[in-house]
Formats: sequence, structure tokens, C-alpha cells
Amino acid sequence: MFRKTIEKAGLAEIYEKIQAGERLSREDGLRLLACRDLLAVGYLARLAREHLHGRRVYYVVNRHLNYTNICENRCRFCAYWRPPGDPEGYVISPEEAVKRLSEGPSPREIHIVGGVNPELPYTYYLELLSAIKEAFPRAAIKAFTCVEIDHLARLSGKSVEEVLRELKAAGLACIPGGGAEVFSGRVREKLFPRKIPAERWLEIARAAHRLGIPTNATLLYGHLETHEERVDHLLRIRELQDETGGFLCFVPLPFLPEKTPLRDEVRPTTGFEDLRMMAVARLLLDNVPHLKAYWVFLGVKLAQLALHFGADDLHGTVVEEKISEASGGREAEALSRAGIERLIREAGFEPVERDAFYRPVV
Ligand code: SF4
Repeated sequence: MFRKTIEKAGLAEIYEKIQAGERLSREDGLRLLACRDLLAVGYLARLAREHLHGRRVYYVVNRHLNYTNICENRCRFCAYWRPPGDPEGYVISPEEAVKRLSEGPSPREIHIVGGVNPELPYTYYLELLSAIKEAFPRAAIKAFTCVEIDHLARLSGKSVEEVLRELKAAGLACIPGGGAEVFSGRVREKLFPRKIPAERWLEIARAAHRLGIPTNATLLYGHLETHEERVDHLLRIRELQDETGGFLCFVPLPFLPEKTPLRDEVRPTTGFEDLRMMAVARLLLDNVPHLKAYWVFLGVKLAQLALHFGADDLHGTVVEEKISEASGGREAEALSRAGIERLIREAGFEPVERDAFYRPVV
């Protein structure tokens, strides 16, 4: 039955390629992104997903910490940042961070990101990691996007490799995927001209991979970017992954314009668009093992559906995620372990609690 649906959707050639284990091209990516038969695209992504993970869906007991909202990058799409000296600006001290993270269940993964704060010394970052590592020896610390790592290299006058080595010695286990946004120079110039260019982001990810520090990668879509720019973004991730194998997971993030300066120019993405983007990411990124349905941005209900459109990771139980909350994130609260497992089981999959490296927690 699906064969006919696939043919009718104009995806027969792509289906053949997937069956033969052949890599999809840029043109295939564009065709999939333009396809209005969502179930046909989703079916192909499910084949790819099942080939990699069977019925398994991963989640992690984690915590988020956004240590400062003071940022000098002033990205136009961001509602989170405050300028230095702003009464709403904050910095969380290492002691306070440990105190906040101690509330709730003991995490396996601690996700730490913040603004590019010119007022914080380099030592703050090392102290933050050391204090958290000492208090939570069982948890892997996933901290600081490539944008923050670039800032730390400039701040300390050290090379990226040196900074990464020092952060690793202080407790860093892996690096989150933020800051990639969309690699298009055109969009970067319009929306976040102060942020590091794509080449620098990729160079820092490459350096981390070479030092044995895995990273994630994201795509922020649904603002000014074209389909071509989305596909090119995915292909640059795929290319680097061929070289290093260091990306653990890819995370498509729909842009949430509600509380940003772009709210009058950009309409929020639709569920259709979000599911199709998820599926296309699974199909083009044949060498990135995991694909995350980040429920904090997608909303719990859509994230659950995304499991049928290529996603194999429902992220985590999450407590306190300030960045998406500031942008009008659909759900910035916590999910319990039982709640997340229910979502996975109800969708017909088998929940697997993981650590930061996707090893099952036993
Ligand atoms: Fe700063 Fe990140 Fe917001 Fe850009 S997206 S303004 S770098 S906090």
C-alpha cells in the first residue's frame, strides 16, 4: 500500500535509494522538503529510523542550567539576552548552580549553556564545571556551545584546543549543539551578525571531536531561511560527520517568534512543517546516529508524534530551561520519568533510559 503512496508522492527514486542503502543528494533533500505528502515522507524516515534503532526511543534524566542571560551577541531572534548592567541580567554562581541542580531527581546529564557574558572571567567557567562535577560525579556535563567556546578562547588568549582540554579536565564531557542556527551567511548577517560564522562553528566542533569530546548539532528553522539553506546546513553537518564521527545527535529546533523582535515578521512553524523537517533530517543525516524530538520547543504532543517521523530521542525530564521559556517555548516545565515513558510506550516504542552517550542506564 505504501509503495503506491510513495510513487504518488513522487518519492519512488528516493525510496529505491534508501532501500539500496544509498546516500541521498541535495536534490533529494529539496524534493522531500517540498513534498506535501507528509505520511509518505514520514514513512521513509521511519524506515531509516527503524534500521538504526528498531523500536527503541531514548530519554535521559537531566537538568538544564542557563548560568547567565547577559550577552553581547544581541541576536535578533533571541528573547533571552540582556545587556551588561541590565536590572534583569543575572549570573548564577557555582555554589548557587549546585544548589539549584540538587533539587529533584539525581541527573545523568547536566546541560549548561548561557549568553556570551563579557563580565565573567575565564576561571568562572572552570569553577562552574568543577563544582558541578564534584557535586554530581555520576552525571555527564554537557556544556557550552561552540559560540561560548569561541568566546572562552578569545577571553583567555588560549587556543580552542587548550580551552577544550582545560574544560575537559574540569569536568566537561560533551558539547551541546546550539549556536549552529542555520549556516547560511545571508541569514547570519541579517539575524545574528555578531555570532561566529559557520566555518568557525564547524572548526570548533571538529577540534572537540578530535579531542574525543562528542557534540550535538542543531538547526534553527522557520525564520528567514530557504529550503536550500536548510538542506545545505544538513549537508555540512553530514560532511563533517564523515570526517570525524563526533556528532552524537542532531536536533531540529523550530523558531519560536512569539516573544522575539521578529514576531511581526515571522509566523510560527506549523506541526506539518515540524514533522516534515524532522523526517528530512533523519533521511539526509544518514551518518548521525540520533535525532532528537526536543519537546521543550515542539511541545510534548508533537514531539511524541515525531517519533513516527524519524526521531529516536525524546530528550529528557528537564527542569528549568530559561532560553526557550523567554522565547515563548511551548513547554518549559518538567516531565517525570514515568510521564516520558508513557509518551514513548503509547506511541508504540520501547523506552530506553540513557546516559549522555546513549548507553542504556541499568
Ligand atoms: Fe546571546 Fe545566544 Fe541569545 Fe545570541 S542566541 S543573543 S548568543 S544568548
